[in-house]
Amino acid sequence: MTVSVDLRIGSEWRSTSRTFESLDPYSQAPWAVVPEATEQDVRDAVSAARRAFDQGPWPRLAPEERGQILRKLADLIDRDALDLASLESRDNGKGMREVAGQMRAISGWYRYFADLAGVHEGRVTNTRKPNFFGYVTDEPVGVVAAILPWNSPLFLLAFKLAPALAVGCTFVAKPSEVAPVSILSFARLLEEAGVPDGVFNTVSGADPKVGGWLVQSPLVDKVSFTGSEKVGALVAQGAGAHLADVALELGGKSANIVFEDANLDEAVGGLVAGIFAAGGQTCIAGSRALIHESVYAELVQRVVDRAAAIRLGNPAEESTDMGPLASQAQFDKVVQFTTAAREAGLEIRGGGKPSELGGWFFEPTIMTDVPDDHPVWCQEIFGPVLACRSFSTEEEAYQLANNSDYGLAAGVWTADVRRVFRAAKRLRAGTVWVNSYRTMGMTMPFGGVKNSGHGRENGIEGLREFLVAKAVWIETEGVVRDPFMVG
Ligand code: NAD
Repeated sequence: MTVSVDLRIGSEWRSTSRTFESLDPYSQAPWAVVPEATEQDVRDAVSAARRAFDQGPWPRLAPEERGQILRKLADLIDRDALDLASLESRDNGKGMREVAGQMRAISGWYRYFADLAGVHEGRVTNTRKPNFFGYVTDEPVGVVAAILPWNSPLFLLAFKLAPALAVGCTFVAKPSEVAPVSILSFARLLEEAGVPDGVFNTVSGADPKVGGWLVQSPLVDKVSFTGSEKVGALVAQGAGAHLADVALELGGKSANIVFEDANLDEAVGGLVAGIFAAGGQTCIAGSRALIHESVYAELVQRVVDRAAAIRLGNPAEESTDMGPLASQAQFDKVVQFTTAAREAGLEIRGGGKPSELGGWFFEPTIMTDVPDDHPVWCQEIFGPVLACRSFSTEEEAYQLANNSDYGLAAGVWTADVRRVFRAAKRLRAGTVWVNSYRTMGMTMPFGGVKNSGHGRENGIEGLREFLVAKAVWIETEGVVRDPFMVG
């Protein structure tokens, strides 16, 4: 089966004269024909969003009216969750168990932000000036350009789109060329939900220029980017050239720290979830395991045993734990890292090689005693490769965990309640999980520090990313002022 998708630009479903193919990572065969947008298509999409913001009703509707449409959208997502999951799993190779779970969850994002925008209020301030009344309103930031990666397209889109639409912004989404189908198809649901024309637009292309044109458009007010740090830096430059606001959700090399008093059954599950769920192709992968020396040997052995039982296979089947990697580039990257590690003499306790299933399957891999300056320890691999090290003191664990260019997330496994608070304070990361890993929710802010980016998604902080404060000063006494004095 080959599917074909169009761009959504204003009120139009637009097919383009040039297209590219999206590959099914399981079969490595083309399965979808996708529009290759021209510079004019991108211009048209941004202009449609600009018009919908400047002239359309969307930003001026009562939050409750927008909320009703978002709730309708949420109902449609629930209706089509499995279809959306199939499209996405086919496109990026991630297992249906994970993707279907995400699809069942994302309607919650649209309902939550519909509610939040409905109750979010401005404030009256004490101006400290007797003849002035002052209030602050939060206004939508304007036209949002969202650029997305391939690993969780619709889930990550919800982090941006739900709050942006809830507050009245208009939107242009550009999915990754590796997995563009779910986002392009999703536009049909927005139309069905009654989102006015021009409020949600899409552009796609295999050429990185498509994202560049979008970011550089002077009609865009805010760029919200999720992807690698390398492209994030380019995006920040492009947006900075016309002084647009930018939020960057980038990569990670998160530490998963197991202390000697942890419940080891739970910790094994947490280490495995951190790095082998989604084949490690997740920004929050707990790719560095820091394990107290007193339980290191035992825990590593248990993770090796658990990893050996991971079922690789067809992502469409519920019984599959890990699908293939998403693309040839991703597969090559994992092979390069593991080959270099083997050549450097690192101990590989499990996996370390492509799976016998062939194609882009790679075995769950565990490396032990990895030096803290080795690329496997320092760089994001974005694959099923766990680097382990032992530590002897709590302080050493924090030093090793924080000694990273990244700061997206961290996990802590301990039964010591005081240590829980110490660890949460000491770890430089946007998210710290305690006795858990890879838990996400729409009410909790998500984002990174250091090279993992800046800006927050989800929660009230995520709503604020799409708002800009306006201060209103009202003179109440008719005082004639000295025009040459401020204040
Ligand atoms: P990527 O940076 O290669 O691509 C991301 C997006 O940027 C794609 O849509 C791509 O087409 C586009 N792009 C490429 N060149 C561009 C340019 N010059 N101008 C504008 N856009 C351009 O990332 P990827 O390989 O798709 O995704 C994997 C990366 O994303 C990993 O580093 C991962 O950690 C990160 N990620 C971060 C989060 C987070 O929330 N922090 C979530 C998921 C993934």
